[in-house]
Amino acid sequence: MLDLPNLPYAYDALEPVISRKIMELHHDKHHAAYVAKANAALEGTQWANKPIEEILKNISELPQDKQMPMRNNGGGHINHTLFWKAMRPPRKNNEPAAEVRSKLEQSFGSFEKFKTQLAETAAGQFGSGWGWLVRKAEGKLAIYSLPNQDSPYLTGDTPLLGIDVWEHAYYLDYFNDRPAYIEKWWQVVNWDEVGKSF
Ligand code: MN
Repeated sequence: MLDLPNLPYAYDALEPVISRKIMELHHDKHHAAYVAKANAALEGTQWANKPIEEILKNISELPQDKQMPMRNNGGGHINHTLFWKAMRPPRKNNEPAAEVRSKLEQSFGSFEKFKTQLAETAAGQFGSGWGWLVRKAEGKLAIYSLPNQDSPYLTGDTPLLGIDVWEHAYYLDYFNDRPAYIEKWWQVVNWDEVGKSF
């Protein structure tokens, strides 16, 4: 059984970057629905009590009719679980500690270049999806976007930081201006939490 985790802060804690209304709908309705549908898909299978990361890494071993439901809803569950943890109340000059910063500099040239690359990648995702910073199996950091609720775990990568660019994540606050949402979102990235998975 997968569980809907509580938010690690109040629904209005991310304002004015992300409104209470978005957080209520996003967590209580969207994420809750992914959890319910993933549990329904796993019910009665040997996968029902496996960690979601393990299920996604081995998705092709699931019964054929469970693979797409778990790709979508199991992916939706782990993506949102990581997303809530990776945010905190807004800070104007929000930057990672030296160790994380230096890893980003090594991989992307500078912290600013890293932010630009992830922002442009997420903004450029056609339709619904996520922008991701991941660690590849061989240890290198990489940035890419994935459609829908596809998780980096599907290809064996480890997600370090993801931004949800489905319209449900920003439309009530930013309407169609996805780049404006992404620009503000940097203020709520919880670099202390994200740094733990580096
Ligand atoms: Mn979402």
